[in-house]
Amino acid sequence: MGRHIVCITFDFDALSGWIARGMATPTPISRGEFGPNVALPRILALLRKYDVPASWFIPGHTLETYPEQCRQVCAAGHEIGHHGWTHRPPASLSREQEEGELVRANEQIRKLTGRGARGYRSPAWDLSPHSVELLLQHGFVYDSSMMGDDYTPYYARQGDVIELEQPAKFGRATPLVEMPISWSTDDSPHFEFMRLGSTIRPGLMNADGVLENWLNDFLYMRKCVKWGVLTYTCHPFISGRGHRIMMLENLIRKLRDNGAVFQRMDETVEEFKRRSKANSQR
Ligand SMILES: [Zn+2]
Repeated sequence: MGRHIVCITFDFDALSGWIARGMATPTPISRGEFGPNVALPRILALLRKYDVPASWFIPGHTLETYPEQCRQVCAAGHEIGHHGWTHRPPASLSREQEEGELVRANEQIRKLTGRGARGYRSPAWDLSPHSVELLLQHGFVYDSSMMGDDYTPYYARQGDVIELEQPAKFGRATPLVEMPISWSTDDSPHFEFMRLGSTIRPGLMNADGVLENWLNDFLYMRKCVKWGVLTYTCHPFISGRGHRIMMLENLIRKLRDNGAVFQRMDETVEEFKRRSKANSQR
């Protein structure tokens, strides 16, 4: 018998992603506020209906702007993870700025949950060369921003030397668990239309097609590994709209019918660590 875990995760960006991109005028702000004001109650009700525990990565900006909505997420039994403070990706920050954001948002998470975050997810998925070290220093157990595997967590490396005209030199593995993600199982590139300067990201895909892809990623996991984790990444302001929340409900039902175990990411990390310890002692 295999065990096939699904982590449904939400990046609760609200206004922060738009502000971080310099889009602070009323329309992009309203686009963000659809998340906490309209999408959140729909999503919480859906997760409650199917008894699905989820992991929510929340920027400090959202924690401080929408404390009541964040309290509801926490009270529903979901995990609260760290997602920066301003939603600027670590790769765009100095070491000091990156550490400042870790500390500032973690203070809010501690107020909400009674402890610092166990998990971190980088805004826009771009870690800096300092991230792994800083996360370990600040008591994080796992990161969920890298793409080096699909169904199997791994230990993040520190100290890689990557230069343009040299072979890569890999650093050593650290105790930080990496819970891998992919743009292919993220709602944003499939659905969210974006005009960024002169480039257009079309999005707006048919939700049934995305559902088929997302389900097939699970069915393939069942075929190729005995124990595995598949992570989906959703944003309330994207997945909370009519046809997409219908897709999310269909996905949960089909996953459940195919034997998926829904689990928070922090609990899945503990399970992975127990398994890798047992395997190494064999
Ligand atoms: Zn985000």
